[in-house]
Amino acid sequence: MVSTTSNILKEILKLLPDDVISDAGFEGANIVLYTKDKDFFLDDKGKIKEAVHSFKKRVELRPDPSISMEMEKARDIVEKLLSTESKIDNIIFDPQRSTVFIEVEKPGLAIGKQGANLKEIKKKTLWVPVIRRTPAIRSQLIEDIRGVLYQNNDYRKKFLNQTGHRIYDGWIRGKKSEWVRLSMLGGGRQVGRSSLLLQTPESRILLDCGIDVAATDANAYPFLEAPEFKINELDAVIVSHAHLDHCGLIPYLIKFGYKGPIYCTAPTRDVMALLQLDLVKIMVSEGKNPLYKADEVKEMVKQCITLDYEAVADITPDVRITLYNSGHIIGGSMVHLHIGNGLHNLVYSGDFKVARSSLLDGAVTSFPRLETLIVESTYGGKDCIMPSRKDCESEFTTIIQETIANKGKVLIPVLGVGRSQEMMVILEKAMREEKLPNVPIYVDGMVWDVTAIHTAYPEYLNSLVRKQIFHKNQNPFLSDVFKRVGSKKERTEIVEEKGPCIILATSGMLVGGASVQYFKELCSNPNNSVIFVNYQGEGSLGRKVQRGQKEIHYADGNRREMMDIKLRVETVEGFSGHADRRELFSYIQRSSPRPKRVIINHGESSRCLDLASSLHKQFRIETNAPRNLETLRIV
Ligand code: ZN
Repeated sequence: MVSTTSNILKEILKLLPDDVISDAGFEGANIVLYTKDKDFFLDDKGKIKEAVHSFKKRVELRPDPSISMEMEKARDIVEKLLSTESKIDNIIFDPQRSTVFIEVEKPGLAIGKQGANLKEIKKKTLWVPVIRRTPAIRSQLIEDIRGVLYQNNDYRKKFLNQTGHRIYDGWIRGKKSEWVRLSMLGGGRQVGRSSLLLQTPESRILLDCGIDVAATDANAYPFLEAPEFKINELDAVIVSHAHLDHCGLIPYLIKFGYKGPIYCTAPTRDVMALLQLDLVKIMVSEGKNPLYKADEVKEMVKQCITLDYEAVADITPDVRITLYNSGHIIGGSMVHLHIGNGLHNLVYSGDFKVARSSLLDGAVTSFPRLETLIVESTYGGKDCIMPSRKDCESEFTTIIQETIANKGKVLIPVLGVGRSQEMMVILEKAMREEKLPNVPIYVDGMVWDVTAIHTAYPEYLNSLVRKQIFHKNQNPFLSDVFKRVGSKKERTEIVEEKGPCIILATSGMLVGGASVQYFKELCSNPNNSVIFVNYQGEGSLGRKVQRGQKEIHYADGNRREMMDIKLRVETVEGFSGHADRRELFSYIQRSSPRPKRVIINHGESSRCLDLASSLHKQFRIETNAPRNLETLRIV
């Protein structure tokens, strides 16, 4: 008989036949049972389903490691059972969890009809197979992240079990909490450093923890010194999406001793690790003391518990979360929190886009229950009306067409994540449909790494792109119109090359990064163009160029240099990943059920206040636009 201190495990074991279970534990909110009884593992006669049904928790049955087949023999069987078309890249055993991870190029083929292959592997080897997709573009970062997770099996097993104990110890059916409070630690009436602390009698949960990269030191970070916030009492961190203004400070929490779980989608985990490592690199190269080191980013990866969209997970004794597509960047989520067994339902929108883009589906509008909605207000002002995606796409391709006709080169400064991949999808389609002549598209540096992450998670892209990848075998990111570049030498070659081309490079505001190097070389030729597709911050080189400045001085080492700007300068508005004013209204209109209260954050002060009063007038619902350090009582 298994000995356990956990009440929920004791009760589940009562439902199962005596002595079939050899071990029982948690993996986060999931309950995992091990058996030495081969027959029970292969056919539990519906007993596990009964337990799932009765407790409304995820319960998984695995073979005890002592009955699993030897690894080498099991490897042979896996290789024999999976057809060569599924293209196995790697087989990795996790003996403590009796699990074998099989990385393949074609997961659908590897799984087989209704999971036939998986069933066979289970039966013949007594291992639990998990199929994972190999990214279509190889990425060192994804390999490193998977490596960190595989190499630390022992740590992960303990960590996930402890997390489960925190969720379930003291578990009592039907327990209700009586209050819910929300404190703004950052992002109140401002864009940047988003962070909200949610408290109930049982839980301390942090929603996002960002950095305002444009701000000076004191204003760059959330108010972690607020009296409500105590790092050693924190139960869980949830990350809505991978932009640094939402996740930039998470490794810093780890540095100061946070040992609990970080919940997000798998693409969010990968992209945020990439951006944080890049931030550390930039700070070091600028001679600044980095906030944290690569090691803390690695620790963060080990503490991440990834969730799929629309999968329900308990994260504390009285809070259950579900992540929904936010339409903002890959893996970006709206976070639904079901608090106190039905006491209250809250949705934190993070950054979101209602309209569908060329890359992602629009944000989810319907939830099982919803009382309070926290929305962003980046473009919440009266003046924030954007042209449709269709109009701006055609404006965009026209400028490129004209530049190519002049034999010029097009520079598109981009943020690494989101817009750049959308540009790639638009350009690939335009060339395939012969709306643009076939010229090389150079994809520089980090844009390529982020694109590789997109190829690892095609299920997060919109249905059109998915169809293109899965049914037509026409992955837009693999098109040979894209050329990867990264070194200074390659950049010089591109600039010196005769003939037109398109260049996608970071940073988006021409502040540091490859885009500046290209710009300096291309700016004096009137046949070339620069197209701005994202916001240009005050004081940035991008903003100066956008405003029409013709001569810009800069220092190159000790020399003073001047840029003589003659190229065509264009701004295409409407590619934003944020909902504009109209979308925000239609979102509240369409959201089902309609919230009783809307809390506004993540916008300039005037936009937050105006949106709050306009939504109140229009929908007759309570609205708030709290400042930083304000706390609202939700229930
Ligand atoms: Zn964002």
